[in-house]
Amino acid sequence: MKILVSACLLGEPVRYDGNHNILSLDVLKQLKSKHQLFSFCPEIEGGLETPRIPAEILNSKVINQSGEDVTKQFEQGANKALTLCQEENIKVALLKAKSPSCGSNKIYDGTFSKVLIDESGITAKKLLDNGIAVYNEEELESFLTFLNDTVE
Ligand code: SF4
Repeated sequence: MKILVSACLLGEPVRYDGNHNILSLDVLKQLKSKHQLFSFCPEIEGGLETPRIPAEILNSKVINQSGEDVTKQFEQGANKALTLCQEENIKVALLKAKSPSCGSNKIYDGTFSKVLIDESGITAKKLLDNGIAVYNEEELESFLTFLNDTVE
């Protein structure tokens, strides 16, 4: 199965601070042995660099901690993610939790105070709105069950 995966979960140092969030080696091995993974970082694809100033969503805009509006870059990254999924017929994504781009279900509230709200990041929402299943790394059990249950 084809799976879009947040690049940082695959160990690429693309986070705002230059780090990554690599999955456990067991999970990576399992995924790579059975599936085709498409590594993607929407913020880099949207034109931002690493390292970059952290950003959060507030009132439908993405604002970084210096007060700059980076909504356009985040939306461009989301559009590119959707285009890749459509071109490659990717139906499921494993995206990094809590990110203003990749987070599904919960993201920070835009005040840079570590408060979570029930919302999705720009890319996760774009994919969900277009019928692509989105899981995060905190839902690995249900994600792996979904993969096992899905017959191509
Ligand atoms: S935008 Fe997504 S893939 Fe890129 S660093 Fe943030 S969480 Fe990882």
